[in-house]
Amino acid sequence: MWTQKFDLHSHSVHSDGIHRVDEVAKMMKQSQVEFWSLTDHDTISGWEEARIAAKENHLNFIPGVEITCEPGLEAEVEELNKMNRERASKSWHLLAYFPEFSDSNSGIEEFEKWLLPLQESRLPRMKKMIEKLSELGMPIDIEKVLDKAGGSVGRPHLAEVMVEMGYVESKSKAFEVWIGDGLPAHYIQPKPSISEATKAVHSVGGFVSLAHPLYYGIPPSKLIDFCYANKVDSIEAFHGSHPDSYRFELWKLANEKGISITCGSDFHGNTNDHTPGFMPAPKHHLNEQLLASSQRI
Ligand SMILES: [Zn+2]
Ligand SMILES: [Zn+2]
Repeated sequence: MWTQKFDLHSHSVHSDGIHRVDEVAKMMKQSQVEFWSLTDHDTISGWEEARIAAKENHLNFIPGVEITCEPGLEAEVEELNKMNRERASKSWHLLAYFPEFSDSNSGIEEFEKWLLPLQESRLPRMKKMIEKLSELGMPIDIEKVLDKAGGSVGRPHLAEVMVEMGYVESKSKAFEVWIGDGLPAHYIQPKPSISEATKAVHSVGGFVSLAHPLYYGIPPSKLIDFCYANKVDSIEAFHGSHPDSYRFELWKLANEKGISITCGSDFHGNTNDHTPGFMPAPKHHLNEQLLASSQRI
């Protein structure tokens, strides 16, 4: 049996989506979604709003988060070519779901603590970069950088302050000489491995699904073996960007290994006529924890 009632992958202003949580919920409802997960990058700060918005829109909310991890395997050129991709993404994304926490966050504190340093707000990373700049003779007041940001702080805000302080003549110079990738004041926030993130999620009763596998340049059978070996529960075979043939290939191989699937539009905003939902998926092969919780609701 096929269903279009699940959309388990979406973003709001809590990470890089363009809509507020309540707007995302409304659009999900308009797309006839019944089971909705908000999966902002490395943060669960949208859950409270999502619970309220889900209630208002008669949606079932499944708390989720998309965790940025180190790549699990090295991309293969042949597979990238086959999928018309110039390069593989620099990180792998792991979707984590917590159906048990649909009503409250009590019990998830440990996981929140684990997630904190990875958060998109990137404050720990910014502090490190400011430390480095200070060591290099360019002291900067972090408050000034945060004022520029308003919300999620990033390198462009830091570059702006560097220009104001007279350390560099332009923002692009700041990137070219000091804070660009691999330069003296750049700091890379260490990312968890897929297996570490999986363990952290399992320890509080959640399950994980490997997000948009098409982006990684790995042949499907190798990907499924990787998931199996690292105890990744599911794979997002039915992702908005996947062609049907790829969805079916992953689904078939996952099923053979006893790995379930998830589906998600990866909705970031209604630009380019993108709408959430409309993700047909074979219901009985969806993650069993998800199905169990959806029956309870
Ligand atoms: Zn992603
Ligand atoms: Zn996403």
